[in-house]
Amino acid sequence: MQYRKTIYAMLLLLLIISLILAGIIWYEKRQDLKVIFLDVGQGDAILIEQGSKQILIDGGPSGQVLMEKLGRYVPFWDREIETVIATHPDQDHIEGLLDVLKNYKVDSLIETTAQSDSQLYKKYEDLLAQKQIQKIAAVAGMKIKLDQAEMEILSPAGEVPTGIVKDTNMYSVVTKLVFGQNSFLFTGDLPDTEENKMVQAGVDMSARILKVGHHGSKYSSSNEFLEKVHPQDAIISVGKNNRFGHPAQEALDRLLAHKINIFRTDELGDIEYDCENIKLNCQMIAN
Ligand SMILES: [Zn+2]
Repeated sequence: MQYRKTIYAMLLLLLIISLILAGIIWYEKRQDLKVIFLDVGQGDAILIEQGSKQILIDGGPSGQVLMEKLGRYVPFWDREIETVIATHPDQDHIEGLLDVLKNYKVDSLIETTAQSDSQLYKKYEDLLAQKQIQKIAAVAGMKIKLDQAEMEILSPAGEVPTGIVKDTNMYSVVTKLVFGQNSFLFTGDLPDTEENKMVQAGVDMSARILKVGHHGSKYSSSNEFLEKVHPQDAIISVGKNNRFGHPAQEALDRLLAHKINIFRTDELGDIEYDCENIKLNCQMIAN
């Protein structure tokens, strides 16, 4: 009797292990693409995920908040984030990355070469060196593959300073993600002067979904730029009652004048797009 019980228990255990393994294999083979604008307060953090691969654009202002968010969206067995893109070295974009570098294996880090003189930036650079993470300078034309999705770096193009600069926003890494008929444009904190340079240079910035520059500052999202991008949806990553008054009414008015739907992380929390396959439009999921 005891012998039979042991056999049953072992069979049950085997079945449970097989089910867990099948679940992991199914999860990692999924083709759907997820783009999640994480609600990290006043800052930016965007998680792009397909199967077991992730790209994280910026880390927001708090490691604790970011780790909690990643814990929610990245499966517990996946301790690797393939690519981190740090758009520029401001605190509201890189502070959260410190905890990511400590807790996940990061294969490569793409960044602008413009540097900051802040203590935080020094800490971040030291950690990158200590972890021996491969740093790649962002240059227009560079591409990152994610199964059927592809991300291209659109800016900086040409000469970028390699030392400390006063206005790091100017050198924000701008990327475009394309998945079939779906496209997303991420512009960091790029100001309108640089947006307009891209317009004049004839860069293909058209995208269905735009991550609005600089948390909806009035100095980003120029009319010329919005005309060129021609998005349906605009996402503003912004903290409740932030001290900068973001998003500015002027920027909101320009978005509305272009008949663009506005979605804000301070009002909606995490904003997630689920893109089932390349032939279908990405759907926004309520969280
Ligand atoms: Zn910012």
